[in-house]
Amino acid sequence: MNDTSDVKIYEYDAVIVGSGLAGLAAAKELTEAGKKTAVITKLHPLRSHSGAAQGGINAALGDEDSTELHEFDTVKGSDYLADQNCVELMCTKAPETIRWAEQMGCVFSRKENGDIAIRPFGGQSKPRACYAKDRTGLALLQAIYEQAFRAGVEIFDEWYAADLLYEDGKVSGVAAYDIRNSQPAIFNAKVTMFATGGHARAYRFNSNAHANTGDSLSIVARHGLPLEDMEFVQFHPSGLGGSGVLISEAARGEGGRLFNSKGERFMEKYAPNALELASRDVVSRAIMEEVRQGRGVGKDGQSVNLDLTHLPKEIILERLPELRELAIAFQGQDMLKEPIHISATAHYSMGGIPTNINCQVRKNPEELVEGFYAAGECSCVSVHGANRLGANSVLEALLFGRHAGENMVKALDEGIALRKAQTSDAGGMLEEVNRLKTSNGMESVPGLRAELQAGMTADAGVFRSKESLERQLKLIDKLLKRYKNIRIDDKSKTFNTDLQEAIELGHMLEFSKFIVVGALNREESRGGHYREDFPERNDEKFLKHTYAYMDKDFNITTEWGDVVLGKFEPKERSY
Ligand SMILES: Cc1cc2nc3c(=O)[nH]c(=O)nc-3n(C[C@H](O)[C@H](O)[C@H](O)COP(=O)(O)OP(=O)(O)OC[C@H]3O[C@@H](n4cnc5c(N)ncnc54)[C@H](O)[C@@H]3O)c2cc1C
Repeated sequence: MNDTSDVKIYEYDAVIVGSGLAGLAAAKELTEAGKKTAVITKLHPLRSHSGAAQGGINAALGDEDSTELHEFDTVKGSDYLADQNCVELMCTKAPETIRWAEQMGCVFSRKENGDIAIRPFGGQSKPRACYAKDRTGLALLQAIYEQAFRAGVEIFDEWYAADLLYEDGKVSGVAAYDIRNSQPAIFNAKVTMFATGGHARAYRFNSNAHANTGDSLSIVARHGLPLEDMEFVQFHPSGLGGSGVLISEAARGEGGRLFNSKGERFMEKYAPNALELASRDVVSRAIMEEVRQGRGVGKDGQSVNLDLTHLPKEIILERLPELRELAIAFQGQDMLKEPIHISATAHYSMGGIPTNINCQVRKNPEELVEGFYAAGECSCVSVHGANRLGANSVLEALLFGRHAGENMVKALDEGIALRKAQTSDAGGMLEEVNRLKTSNGMESVPGLRAELQAGMTADAGVFRSKESLERQLKLIDKLLKRYKNIRIDDKSKTFNTDLQEAIELGHMLEFSKFIVVGALNREESRGGHYREDFPERNDEKFLKHTYAYMDKDFNITTEWGDVVLGKFEPKERSY
């Protein structure tokens, strides 16, 4: 991969990076509308992290439920930072989205009368998470993959997208290479979409797949485009102690209880009404507080007990079979017989690439980029604000993915033009790859990554302060310098995972800096962002979205953007 003469150019109406629920839902819409569509993905589509979603997908289907109640819970859960126009769209379209998924072949679990079963989830006033046992994401992903495939979408799997073609406010595709043989290519398109998922791999304890390295965030930021609300990272209350592997909220939804080492059901103290089903930020902080005060369990005292032993065996075997297997495999603990050890784990990214309600990417709070869309976890359409409710994310990915697809079809029908790409548009990607392959420094990728992750968990995690965040900022700046001195041993062109991990580490270092700078600027506590030195929410100063921009030397500047308020006035949250 040395010079541009080797670069192939493919031309499409639409190119989508990412084949999780968001990317495939968009691809299906485009292909069915007769648009020539390519999906680029570094994994086989069915290995996208969407397939790991366990607990459910929200829709107000219950007799006593309403879409307005779903909206209210979502806005309250977001600590009032969500854009209420987008929340309204999501919640009102959720029931139809479930029927759509069902028609595509997704097999949901059922009640005895044949209706789709719903289970309670944290922070929600009614049961509304539809599910397929505890393998909801996989059931959805398989159904939508089959349908997108049938519609004729072209999938480039095991291709790595490394750069965005961006000029004069317009995007015209991406530069990517084939992981199998390092063949570089330009995917030139009239409309481009990023659907690259989450980025919690930046943390030592996280629930995410190895691929969730947030590549698209820094790819976008390197072109001077903003990232929004990156300081808001969700820490899920129940990762398996020591590994962070997820035990879905479904375990608490089905009746699981939390106990400290003294046998106290400590949520009685922190959320007397909602108990274990308070929203995730509240439960995670309660767990970490118990651990900090020396009431943790496990070898290192860093976990608490999640107890399901009082539940009928059939509930666990029928509704939570995978969770049981995970706890046995990773910890040797069988939830049928004993409590399992869990602790807060970095799980979800509320922030990301800013978009308007139609999934068009923003150039700044007022202007849009032409021909560029984003949806799913990498995006910030801001339906989750400062804290996401469980089972709202699969919904967001599917619903806004499809919505992005419809809007791209519209843009194509209205005649959006193709800016013809040149092989030289792959120059940035080739330069990055060659630099990493020829660099002969002393630093190793796993070494730097481990330092970053440990620092993020310790200093930009559940609890944050000016002091801890400044320490982490210093560390990241040092790591960014040391990254220039990196060395990879595999110089080959075939399945060069050393190279890929080095590129991914570069992305992780850069977007982590956005998390830390955003968290330093936001001198308040809201949702997943908790500042020990500013423990209160401050609407007067901070009921705002963060927009952050990076320059070539990794300096980050920020500005505030307006939150779209609506029928729900900001109030104190109580559980
Ligand atoms: C363990 C776990 C359980 C969860 N359970 C639930 C749940 O029960 N309910 C719920 O609502 N949410 C849940 N979530 C969250 C939810 O699953 C995700 O937010 C959502 O599925 C993300 O979908 P997506 O389409 O945005 O991205 P993903 O499904 O993560 O897909 C990302 C895609 O981007 C591709 N990609 C990334 N970078 C590149 C690159 N540089 N080049 C090429 N391709 C690239 C990947 O190959 C992949 O195809 C869970 C998350 C986890 C981790």
